[in-house]
Amino acid sequence: MTKVEKNFEDIPSILKHASRKDAFEKNVNARAYSFGKTLYKTKEAQKNLKEIYHLKCAFCEKKLLDADKHIEHYRSKNTYYWLAYSWDNLLLACGNCNRAKGKKFKTENSKVIYKNETFEEIHALGKSYDEIEKPFIIHPEKEDVLQYIKYDKEGKVSSENPRVQHTIEEACKLNREELVQKRLSVLNDFINQINKHYILFTQEKSSLSRFKPDIETFIEKADKESEFYSFRYFILHNIEIFFENKNIQKILISFW
Ligand SMILES: [Zn+2]
Repeated sequence: MTKVEKNFEDIPSILKHASRKDAFEKNVNARAYSFGKTLYKTKEAQKNLKEIYHLKCAFCEKKLLDADKHIEHYRSKNTYYWLAYSWDNLLLACGNCNRAKGKKFKTENSKVIYKNETFEEIHALGKSYDEIEKPFIIHPEKEDVLQYIKYDKEGKVSSENPRVQHTIEEACKLNREELVQKRLSVLNDFINQINKHYILFTQEKSSLSRFKPDIETFIEKADKESEFYSFRYFILHNIEIFFENKNIQKILISFW
């Protein structure tokens, strides 16, 4: 989960189209998500979300180059049928996070019910709903939880913050084997590069400059647009967890 910036004023015009208004009104009358079931899946909304999320899943941060790109509803469209086309409620997610999250939406307080909100209002209801319900799942457009996310040497993610931990374990299952293996390969590639340089550095008594390109590349990739940014960020700020050798720790720190 990495905080992203969404312009809540710049609502894709297709979401305000008469066909969506018509489906919204039918759903409201039916008090269920029964009409216009695919009308939130628009090219325009997906294009905007891909830019906002740097083509990454909102929850697991996997790059979605060739993978499935799902328009995910933060608040489930089945429960919150009037928010199916709400720009505020649409995120970008991978298929696995989308399926894991499903209809889950744990809240500290009772869930809101539909109270005659108009079609024009649906894009800006999230903030007031958040204050009433106090949801457990993190909203990456509204919260920066980077400092609460921890990783271990096995590539597993966790948090001492109950909401972040809920999002990781219960809602999105972010320790799926597929993700752990991908994160481990990022970590092991870096560890192997550094260890290789260290062996040659001590044997040949060569200069520290041999570490520079690989370290700089890793730092460059610790960027919000990169896959697994929060993992890369954590490694850079907690190298003692991933490199036990104190001399290597000193060398790494000297580069940042
Ligand atoms: Zn995902």
